Amino acid sequence: MQKYVYFFGEGHAEGNAKMKNILGGKGAGLAEMTNIGVPVPPGFTISTEVCTWYYDHEKSYPPELREDVESALARVEKAVGKNFGDPKRPLLVSVRSGARASMPGMMDTILNLGLNDQTVQGLAKLADERFAFDSYRRFIQMYSDVVLGIDREHFEEQLFAARDRAGVKIDAEIPAKELCALVETYKKIVRKDSGKDFPQDVHDQLWGAISAVFGSWNNQRAITYRKLNRIPDDWGTAVNVQSMVFGNMGDDSATGVAFTRNPANGQRRFFGEYLPNAQGEDVVAGIRTPLPISKAQVVGDEKPLEATMPAVYRQLEDVYKKLEAHYRDMQDIEFTIESGKLYLLQTRTGQRTGFAAVKIACDMVEDGLIKPREAVERVEANQIVQLLAPVFDAQEKQKALKGNRLLGRGLAAGPGAAAGRIAFNADHAVAMAKEGPVILARIETSPEDIAGMHSAVGILTARGGLTSHAAVVARGMGRPCIVGAGTLRIDYGRGELRSEGHEPLEEGDWISIDGTSGEVLNGQLQTRPSEVIQVLIDGTLKPEQADVFRNFDRLPRWADEIRTLGVRTNADTPTDARVARLFGAEGIGLCRTEHMFFADERILRVREMILARDEAGRRKSLAELLPYQRGDFEGIFRELAGTPVTIRLLDPPLHEFLPQTESQISEVARDMGWGFIELRSKVSQLHEMNPMLGHRGCRLGITYPEIYEMQVRAIFEAACAVKKQGTDVHPEVMIPLVGTLKELQITSEMVRRVGREVIKERGVDVPVIVGTMIEIPRAALVADKLAEVAEFVSFGTNDLTQMTFGYSRDDAGTFLPEYVEKKILPKDPFESIDQEGVGQLVRMGTERGRSAKPKLKVGVCGEHGGDPDSIRFFRTCNLDYVSCSPYRVPVARLAAAQAELELQAYEG
Ligand code: ADP
Ligand code: MG
Ligand code: MG
Repeated sequence: MQKYVYFFGEGHAEGNAKMKNILGGKGAGLAEMTNIGVPVPPGFTISTEVCTWYYDHEKSYPPELREDVESALARVEKAVGKNFGDPKRPLLVSVRSGARASMPGMMDTILNLGLNDQTVQGLAKLADERFAFDSYRRFIQMYSDVVLGIDREHFEEQLFAARDRAGVKIDAEIPAKELCALVETYKKIVRKDSGKDFPQDVHDQLWGAISAVFGSWNNQRAITYRKLNRIPDDWGTAVNVQSMVFGNMGDDSATGVAFTRNPANGQRRFFGEYLPNAQGEDVVAGIRTPLPISKAQVVGDEKPLEATMPAVYRQLEDVYKKLEAHYRDMQDIEFTIESGKLYLLQTRTGQRTGFAAVKIACDMVEDGLIKPREAVERVEANQIVQLLAPVFDAQEKQKALKGNRLLGRGLAAGPGAAAGRIAFNADHAVAMAKEGPVILARIETSPEDIAGMHSAVGILTARGGLTSHAAVVARGMGRPCIVGAGTLRIDYGRGELRSEGHEPLEEGDWISIDGTSGEVLNGQLQTRPSEVIQVLIDGTLKPEQADVFRNFDRLPRWADEIRTLGVRTNADTPTDARVARLFGAEGIGLCRTEHMFFADERILRVREMILARDEAGRRKSLAELLPYQRGDFEGIFRELAGTPVTIRLLDPPLHEFLPQTESQISEVARDMGWGFIELRSKVSQLHEMNPMLGHRGCRLGITYPEIYEMQVRAIFEAACAVKKQGTDVHPEVMIPLVGTLKELQITSEMVRRVGREVIKERGVDVPVIVGTMIEIPRAALVADKLAEVAEFVSFGTNDLTQMTFGYSRDDAGTFLPEYVEKKILPKDPFESIDQEGVGQLVRMGTERGRSAKPKLKVGVCGEHGGDPDSIRFFRTCNLDYVSCSPYRVPVARLAAAQAELELQAYEG
């Protein structure tokens, strides 16, 4: 016979922690606590399978359920020595929902069930009258709200009135008489509102409550919550019926919630809040301000539990330590104290910030509670970036929010906090940054803004999604960034940033952005750089002074011992390369050479080169550019000594380097000594309808071979120079946007030829390795052919996604969010690899490539290289490495290890 009801009590439970699927999280926790000897009021759990049955059978129950519930209830009665509905010694119960995954506050709980006009008298005699009627009025209100659908405000109004009549400030002080009258008023409300008397039959009450809990699985709040958190609708909830213990029995009673460690910063310290003489919902409802549990938490003159009930506090400490040791993780607990006796009502693994997650995992390894590999498994890889971000002072931010300083919200694109003066364009940002911190505020950004973005402490855009230029670059630079703050109006013409309900802000005004939450705030909030940066990059803090750094450093090291997937970085400058190296990158997977063209006076040479009337003119400008490129490469090779550096030859369409607006054109014309008309016509001549699919990548290298020749020469001259000074160098030249074998043949022959020439000239031997990016679907299809020529391939998954879906990356913001919302796509494919489609090309391309060249080195260098889900997938494709922006390197190291552990578990 199917088992639907699971008893817990008297030191033994029929369920346990492993049975979350049928008992729900709460039920499994109650069972487990009972089994390990933690004091839990006896009760029973009706399984989630009943919920499923209920919805499959027009909201009815399996026939045997009634009997099962009766007999479980009888066991509870026996265990506590009280009887359900007994006017002398009434058993009261709570009816609590509890799904597999925690859905905080999404479903309803009813307390004090079993009270009626008779049993309340019994309760009054057993304890005292005030307490009995306080429980009864709570029960009527909750039951009416949850089961009968009567607005709780009707009751609350009367409660406040009673409080006023009694002349007291808190509910706990309302005298018995007043409560007694309140109950009568409540019953009248019920009669008036529902047309029926409040149910006096305790069994009717019980089944009404059970049905309400099952019913609440499909209330709007719960449905929305499941949708947001991707919880399947068919999991169902369990119902827990549990004997009541009373935190409202007087001043030696209380109720509270606690974390076994601090969930914000991970401190190894018991942490929580309690309310004396109260019941559970009072703490959550925020009707009264709860008090701290421990002395260490006290800030003002509040009385902590540790002081008011020292014996119970010590018992609570024992329990929390026992629970933590048993679950081997930080727990979030709910407890109630009845007349000086402690009961636990809930335990679950506590939610925590990235800071706390890392610290707790490391501390638990230190304490011998878990092994390093478990620490690696526990921290969500993405969370580790939080440790790198500057932060706002929490209290100051709260004050700002309360003081109407919130200007708007956008997408949290780059975690961290930043405050600075507003600059509306990149040049101003660069200039203003010399005087103090700047926030670059743009409608959106483009490659030209790089310098401005670099000099800004934070970036804000009104338009764009999480893969917009601003977001990608900011993440790469580790800058706090908010994109798509759509309610902000940025007006370049008037030099204003407007937000409804606020005075317009001008350039130079202070603004603060929280890239972890997406909030844009008026004025200057204080920030601090992260400890990790202070130690690792700035060198302004010693490691031994920085607890956060020590943990940040340990976790990825443990990951390195587990993972087999390599982690490289996408870095274009020696500075980025250095940062990435410090974060643990094992080489560069993508060095984009075009960024080097934007800096300072180089852009002028680049423009001359592009605008040259013939090849000779182009070669002249290129020759002037060569030393710059060589210098950059030398710097990078030095930073990345001993590791491979993949350099991609020029990729974007040439017109990206040219001025676009009339005023820019006239400025550039002046600088270059060209006529305005002449320049404008040249610019429009280079204009392309669809530049992303136009004259770019290897197509440029084939039609203007002198450009690539210069770049290759710069690479090898730099490699030879650095090697001559005794540094080990491993350049890998990567050809972008290849679609056919012929393209790769032509360009790679050129690379090899120029490489050999330079090596011969310089008399230094450097290996010449040529490979290609696979970012056009055709290239993935013919990867076996390409592998005959290529010594490595790297999937450029940004473009590959764009071209496989046929979505323009720059325009997808107009429809992708809606696609995700409507579940046409499970997530943004530019953020996390589309395994089914694009991923198939990666897998197939890798297999085909290796069928022609078994040792072919294969990597990924798109944004996906830093996304944990994508990394998990790439590991299953047997790639050699992923490459991601410097600040994501620690994330990738962690995710790669997690992928390895998952694979090991899967393969047994
Ligand atoms: P939620 O899932 O919203 O946290 P719970 O079922 O945990 O709802 O109930 C909320 C609170 O009600 C608990 O934290 C506890 O304080 C109180 N509560 C629940 N059951 C009992 C009980 N049997 N005795 C005393 N208090 C209870
Ligand atoms: Mg709870
Ligand atoms: Mg590309």
